[in-house]
Amino acid sequence: MGLVVQKYGGSSVADAEGIKRVAKRIVDAKKNGNQVVVVVSAMGDTTDELIDLAEQVSPIPAGREFDMLLTAGERISMALLAMAIKNLGHEAQSFTGSQAGVITDSVHNKARIIDVTPGRIRTALDEGNIAIVAGFQGVSHDKKDITTLGRGGSDTTAVALAAALDAEVCEIYTDVDGVFTADPRVVTKARKIDWISFEDMLELAASGSKVLLHRCVEYARRYNIPIHVRSSFSGLRGTWVSNEPQGDQKVEHAIISGVAHDVSEAKITVVGVPDKPGEAAAIFRTIANAEVNIDMVVQNVSAASTGLTDISFTLPKAEGRKAIDALERNRGVIGFDSLRYDDQIAKISLVGAGMKTNPGVTAGFFEALSDAGVNIELISTSEIRISVVTRVDDVNEAVRAVHTAFGLDSDSDEAVVYGGTGR
Ligand code: ADP
Ligand code: ASP
Ligand code: MG
Repeated sequence: MGLVVQKYGGSSVADAEGIKRVAKRIVDAKKNGNQVVVVVSAMGDTTDELIDLAEQVSPIPAGREFDMLLTAGERISMALLAMAIKNLGHEAQSFTGSQAGVITDSVHNKARIIDVTPGRIRTALDEGNIAIVAGFQGVSHDKKDITTLGRGGSDTTAVALAAALDAEVCEIYTDVDGVFTADPRVVTKARKIDWISFEDMLELAASGSKVLLHRCVEYARRYNIPIHVRSSFSGLRGTWVSNEPQGDQKVEHAIISGVAHDVSEAKITVVGVPDKPGEAAAIFRTIANAEVNIDMVVQNVSAASTGLTDISFTLPKAEGRKAIDALERNRGVIGFDSLRYDDQIAKISLVGAGMKTNPGVTAGFFEALSDAGVNIELISTSEIRISVVTRVDDVNEAVRAVHTAFGLDSDSDEAVVYGGTGR
């Protein structure tokens, strides 16, 4: 008998009908002879609604209480799902992250899983139950406080449980038919990928393809857990993400795997920084001490007359306030004229292992953007990725232009989006 971990995202369990539909799928997996562990997200946009509510009560809510609030979303869906399964005549038990043994560090709102001790899940399975686990949450190892894993964190819960339980596969059920060459909400001609390597998927996820969370792919690669991304609304086979393709998984030898975009970042420019050693270090130490992760960095050439320069960097919008406050507090030590905050930006990335050995990819990318009349503000690259920052208003057009320019448009069906609000 195999053990499968299935994860259902918020759009798959958006309402009572969705919960009943998913319950049937889970029961089918059990009837096929598997032991089944299910990780479930909060219903629909519940997490966003809870965040809005918290902000109405307090502009900067305490991390501990914020986590306690957000985990309520997944508790609702796990209990309802267990009820729906029981109603179909099968045994199911729901567990919070803490009960399932998801142990994390104590960084509230973006905790990392440091251990998984799924004793209670094993017992539940051995007793013939389907185990339902609340995604996106754990308990801190030191203070035993409830933590959350950051937005989209249920993906990570699923892979971490799959690794701890030595599952055959981790199935991620969502509202599209798999991983596409671009977000199907933006590019209707996006093509479904049959198989993609962990390496390319990591870059796509890091660049904003939220169909899989970056940390989840990192975890899957470390423990070599194959992921099957598929729709909970259709019976179609989805996308396999693994080290090597297995069986009939089709490998496309394309130079480019896909185009990703991200509108969740902002740009901070530190204006009038003395152009001398130690300045960048002081700025980024300040940011690091505030526990803010940065993404791209660019330093302008200094004006010879003043000896001053500007340093820009991008970061998650959600951390913008924290970063600005930290820099302002340390203004005297760092020494700068002013700060500029810009949240009207988007990042567009082209990803593919083939670009290592094929010249002209960067030129083709910039030409496609220029033909679409899109101005580039920042650039960063890795061995298998090129990213640019543009105005947010240009993002959809830019993604479509780049997708077409690199020959990624599908000539058959349109990509289907079954649910969700894209929020
Ligand atoms: P869930 O609620 O199931 O976790 P998410 O909204 O987190 O769903 O992720 C699924 C969404 O990811 C899709 O609806 C799609 O808009 C978006 N997405 C972005 N890039 C891609 C891509 N390359 N392939 C498929 N979906 C993508
Ligand atoms: N409910 C959480 C979120 O919306 C976690 C998840 O869905 O993965 O971010
Ligand atoms: Mg998700």
